Amino acid sequence: AVPLVVAISTSVSAQNGLLIRNRTAFENSRKITLMAFDKTGTLTKGNFGVTRFQSVQKEFSDQEILKLAGAVEAESEHPLAIGILDKVKEKDIELPEIKNFNALTGKGIEADVGEQKVKVVSPGFLKENNLEVPDGANQNEQETVVFLVVDNQLAGFIALADEIREESQEAVKILKENRMKIYMMTGDNEQVAKSVSEELGLDGYFAGILPDEKLEQVKKFQQQGEFVAMTGDGINDAPALATADVGIAVGSGTDVAAETADIILVNSNPKDIASLVLFGKKTHKKMI
Ligand code: ADP
Ligand code: MG
Repeated sequence: AVPLVVAISTSVSAQNGLLIRNRTAFENSRKITLMAFDKTGTLTKGNFGVTRFQSVQKEFSDQEILKLAGAVEAESEHPLAIGILDKVKEKDIELPEIKNFNALTGKGIEADVGEQKVKVVSPGFLKENNLEVPDGANQNEQETVVFLVVDNQLAGFIALADEIREESQEAVKILKENRMKIYMMTGDNEQVAKSVSEELGLDGYFAGILPDEKLEQVKKFQQQGEFVAMTGDGINDAPALATADVGIAVGSGTDVAAETADIILVNSNPKDIASLVLFGKKTHKKMI
């Protein structure tokens, strides 16, 4: 039978933007010693706006960079895709059709546009493929830069900026008061990760990491004796969420990550996690 206190707590937490899928995890939330947060869309708003876009090849105009990238991004639901498509709309650019869309896990996306193979990818992808970051595309700590690769040639880049959520600061404060270590794990670049981590006063961050590296890091933390909660979104984060002692899926409850998670964070608000932790402690006191 479900202990009454837990049943009540579960419905109370639903009003606080949390869906509890696994009661044990809820009871476990008071044991958490380390929180590993996602960056994009959790600690930050996830509302990327395009700040710059530029061609680095004479075959393409700047506008064409946006057009080709937009065509491929039209199939993606990534926050970066939404930012790029907003710009496409603002510029009234008509998008060509694409074929063979494919996600390059943790690195970007690709598709065929006419005869051309078009990729929109991370700085990490460029490095792996020995493509040089073009002049002017060096990101500052406010920008996330993605690169357009056409037929294996670097064609241009698009810079986007996101903002830290107002609630993140308070969530971090509450979690720290409860003696929790707080880390951020992100596929985004080093500079952005460092600046968000410093601004929020986190214990550390892991940047430019792939989903399976997130999983490995969760295991490492556990080997160090930590009781780990992790937030994540998308299909890619599902293995890491399943391995964490408390897996928290962010946002919509329809994807694979949500199915493997113990808890769903409905409004992607990190403050709701802080509430969960405090609430787990209170609930436990009532049971004993
Ligand atoms: P996060 O850990 O922040 O959720 P992801 O694994 O979703 O990161 O993405 C990691 C990186 O891969 C992004 O910062 C970006 O460089 C690239 N990327 C992923 N999806 C896309 C996309 N749809 N368009 C462009 N770049 C993408
Ligand atoms: Mg992601």
